[in-house]
Amino acid sequence: MRVAVVSGGVGGARFVQGLVDVVEPREVSVIGNVGDDVEVLGMHVSPDLDSIVYTLAGLNDEERGWGRADETWHALETVTSLRGEDWFKLGDRDVGLHLVRTQALRAGEPLSAVTARIAQALGLSATLLPATDDELRTWIDTAAGSFSFQEWFVARGHRDDVDAVRFVGDAKPAPDVLEALAAADAILIAPSNPYVSIHPILAVREIRDALAARRVPCVAVSPLIGGRAVKGPADRMLTRLAGGTTPAHVAGCYEGLIDALVVDEADAADLDALPVRAIVTQTLMRDDDARRRLAEAALELVAA
Ligand code: GDP
Ligand code: CA
Repeated sequence: MRVAVVSGGVGGARFVQGLVDVVEPREVSVIGNVGDDVEVLGMHVSPDLDSIVYTLAGLNDEERGWGRADETWHALETVTSLRGEDWFKLGDRDVGLHLVRTQALRAGEPLSAVTARIAQALGLSATLLPATDDELRTWIDTAAGSFSFQEWFVARGHRDDVDAVRFVGDAKPAPDVLEALAAADAILIAPSNPYVSIHPILAVREIRDALAARRVPCVAVSPLIGGRAVKGPADRMLTRLAGGTTPAHVAGCYEGLIDALVVDEADAADLDALPVRAIVTQTLMRDDDARRRLAEAALELVAA
């Protein structure tokens, strides 16, 4: 079975980890968000792609929830002591990857090519594709002003309520993205933040069109449990931008693009207005077993 999965960073990566346990990893293509990408200290950082790479390579820090395990911070300490740009936390091990990527991009290599090289070097069997090789950036409009995604999320701790999310850049799909969607027996949308992790991928017109014109089931997994985000601002954003946090509000983020939504048992009483099929299960990915079961549930329609 071939699966294409649309994914943000940490939540998406955890889900993909379960997925490659239940589907042959070589048959899995992950289409990742680059709207969060940011230039820090002259380096091109792709946080969502890196979360997927580190998680699938077993290098991620489970406790912190982002970045690499066994990380040290000497480079950042030097930056701070020199009064350099230190708001975006990059560990020493992490920096090595950003240097390799940045050099490749400066030499004219597309993001998709250097991402594939990094994934291969770290032993990934699944295919990791950035949604686009073009510049596509997420901007957040708030009462306090408009901010680039990382400025709002990291520097300001996503404290400002969001009035609108915008995507800047006229982006084409990266090589192999449309092919992966066309070849898939199932398309999955990971339990990532719909507004800032999945919508920037769907902002690539041809990717959205491919999902709308799909001939195979597309199943999204809700990032909310009991109407609350497991982590981050997804619930606050849904309340403000969609008017609520029920499964129907989550499904509304993917109108016309999904055939089913995987929802947690904690939200099972709230399915009345849901316009697509519900797949009810436990969705907290607390360990490998829970991740695997969630991936199996998401593929239920396909296997049946
Ligand atoms: P980011 O790009 O690193 O911010 O990560 P994502 O957008 O991919 O994932 C963030 C979302 O994952 C949040 O909205 C969380 O609610 C959701 N999430 C994290 N862990 C879990 C989990 O165990 N189960 C479910 N259902 N959602 C989760
Ligand atoms: Ca992200």
